[in-house]
Amino acid sequence: MNFAVSIGKPDPEVYIDTGKWKARQGGNGVSAAEDIKIKYTNCTAEDNAKIYQLNKPITESFFSLFYPFGKVSKELGRKLIGEVVVLDVKHNVPIISIQPFKQEGYDYSVKIKTMNVANHDDLQRMAGYQIRKYNACRKCLKCESLCKTGAISIIGDNYKIDGNKCVHCKKCVSSKYLDGGCMMTGYLATKE
Ligand code: SF4
Ligand code: SF4
Repeated sequence: MNFAVSIGKPDPEVYIDTGKWKARQGGNGVSAAEDIKIKYTNCTAEDNAKIYQLNKPITESFFSLFYPFGKVSKELGRKLIGEVVVLDVKHNVPIISIQPFKQEGYDYSVKIKTMNVANHDDLQRMAGYQIRKYNACRKCLKCESLCKTGAISIIGDNYKIDGNKCVHCKKCVSSKYLDGGCMMTGYLATKE
């Protein structure tokens, strides 16, 4: 927990234990461990596509969470379905399609399809980390402190990545630096 001290923030464990984050989540009574689970259904119509449950509607900040993977482009997406694509920075080819999607059983959902990559599971796993951040960030600032370019900002309930600052280092989505891309993954797993 040294990072919390170094950035002058309260210890994240204390923060979680006091339940302050729950108030921000609307006090809906969902258990902490349940809330951070990444819930998805495999798409039956498209290969390498998963439909993820969101706990709120998609806003601009949702798309910004995909900057670690490459260039985020609305222009190249199919406008009719509100698609946004992510282009690989080296080869400029689409690697992720983000599609707002209505899935029965989920209040809000999004379809994430991966393409032109060797390892689809790896990319889907990291995309899932970002969806968890969107759904359940507790503002402990661990991932923000990992980002050396200051690209991550968490203001109110708005978790956002600045596309002009992100250098796609993927530290914030890598298990090597942060298990599950979020401090809460390990913390809540040990509390179960
Ligand atoms: S997404 Fe980042 S700031 Fe939010 S709880 Fe997880 S590690 Fe902390
Ligand atoms: S750590 Fe910062 S610079 Fe690196 S991918 Fe994440 S947001 Fe981008």
